[in-house]
Amino acid sequence: MKATNSTTVSAVAASSAAPSSSRDARIATHSHIKGLGLGDDGLALPSAQGFVGQRAAREACGLVLDLIRMRKFAGKALLLAGGPGTGKTALALGVSHELGHKVPFCPMVGSEVYSSEVKKTEVLMENFRRAIGLRVRETKEVYEGEVTELTPTETENPLSGYGKTIAHVVIALKTVKGTKQLKLDPSVYESIMKERISIGDVIYIEANTGAVKRVGRSDAYATEFDLEAEEYVPLPKGEVHKRKEVVQDVTLHDLDMANAKPQGGQDIMSVVGQLVKGRRTEVTDKLRGEINRVVNKYIEQGIAELVPGVLFIDEVHMLDMECFTYLNRALESTISPHVILATNRGQCTIRGTEYEGTGSGTGIIAPHGIPLDLLDRCMIVRTLPYEREEIKEVIRLRTKVEGLAITDDAVEKLSDEGMASSLRYALQLLSPAAILSRTAGRSEITIEDIDETDSLFMDARRSARLLGKSEQVQEKDQATPMETS
Ligand code: ATP
Repeated sequence: MKATNSTTVSAVAASSAAPSSSRDARIATHSHIKGLGLGDDGLALPSAQGFVGQRAAREACGLVLDLIRMRKFAGKALLLAGGPGTGKTALALGVSHELGHKVPFCPMVGSEVYSSEVKKTEVLMENFRRAIGLRVRETKEVYEGEVTELTPTETENPLSGYGKTIAHVVIALKTVKGTKQLKLDPSVYESIMKERISIGDVIYIEANTGAVKRVGRSDAYATEFDLEAEEYVPLPKGEVHKRKEVVQDVTLHDLDMANAKPQGGQDIMSVVGQLVKGRRTEVTDKLRGEINRVVNKYIEQGIAELVPGVLFIDEVHMLDMECFTYLNRALESTISPHVILATNRGQCTIRGTEYEGTGSGTGIIAPHGIPLDLLDRCMIVRTLPYEREEIKEVIRLRTKVEGLAITDDAVEKLSDEGMASSLRYALQLLSPAAILSRTAGRSEITIEDIDETDSLFMDARRSARLLGKSEQVQEKDQATPMETS
């Protein structure tokens, strides 16, 4: 297993982190959710792992988890149906936490598939691949030793004629086989600087890439060693001092992106990179096929293991017939993630079935706007509105997680807001209220801050009601002159 260059899986994962930042932000509001909060008997504890109430839905999700673990959920999907802010996303995240550490969770909204540049099924496929993880176990061969000399040798830059470049770096390393002076490639200097390596540090030098990693500090002081005046030697081949297992988690989407990027990133992780090369600029079906082939090979060889994560599609009624057909097919795939759908709609038109030219509302009407063949595959779980006490407890949980101080009557007021609109709305008021309280020089959120925030922002229902009223007034104003003329 030789690396094609020094790019590591973590670098691959980091390079693909940017586009998912909005996804991360979406998950941030659920950071208090650590699981489904179920007891050993599978029953929901009143409040556990950040979950409060919604007990029947949590227990149902627990059963789905059992089915997943027994491999009896293949080809199926979980559909969460309930009003806004009733914890559908939180439940999906809870399921993914229960599946294990580093299991991918990919949330998306149905309407995301509509873009002028990318095909709908392409968007879906990308999200499917974001939700499929790959755990790679690599055995790395490393030299372990203590740095006893560190000398970067500078030379004039022969190209420009001025400025200096590092020609090579000499590290004297006290290893299990005695002290060795190693003359290393200048590229190593970067990782030496990054890791702030100095004399007396215990380091690993990766045999394949020469990358240097600081792993500790020696008690004995470096200068006490009597260096043998050996000739500078490159990393000694076949004299590996240590093998260490490195577990790296990536998603299929990370691999797609790392291969598609032409800017020096077309190698992916060391195991897959060598087989999938070339300067590609977009993720094509062919590239995905190649990656799948390589991944399958490594799974067969026991080097990698597939980690199916959770693909969560909120507002699933926004998908159209073409997407539903794709979903049906994708669920059949052997490498499908666990799919959780969510909707707050009852009966509605399936998008893409409207009769030509007649607009929406005249197509096929189905429960949740989902075609029956897909509904047949779904296990449907209802989420119910919260009791006041439950809303209060979630508010308390969130203030704790966000490190906010809040007075009791402000919590009561927020709970009223939650009952009148939704839990989501009440939680959303927390951050602006915290800013207002800080601006006013207060150390905790008070009822005044909640009132002020509430006067500045509106929940959806109030906003719609006010707009409705002003439309009526406008209609009346416009009608009056005509009637009188
Ligand atoms: P929408 O239909 O609008 O997408 P939703 O049903 O997905 O809403 P969430 O986004 O899961 O609702 O919930 C809103 C907020 O309330 C989130 O911060 C979520 O973590 C929190 N929350 C919801 N239900 C619970 C619960 N039972 N226990 C703890 N926190 C909860």
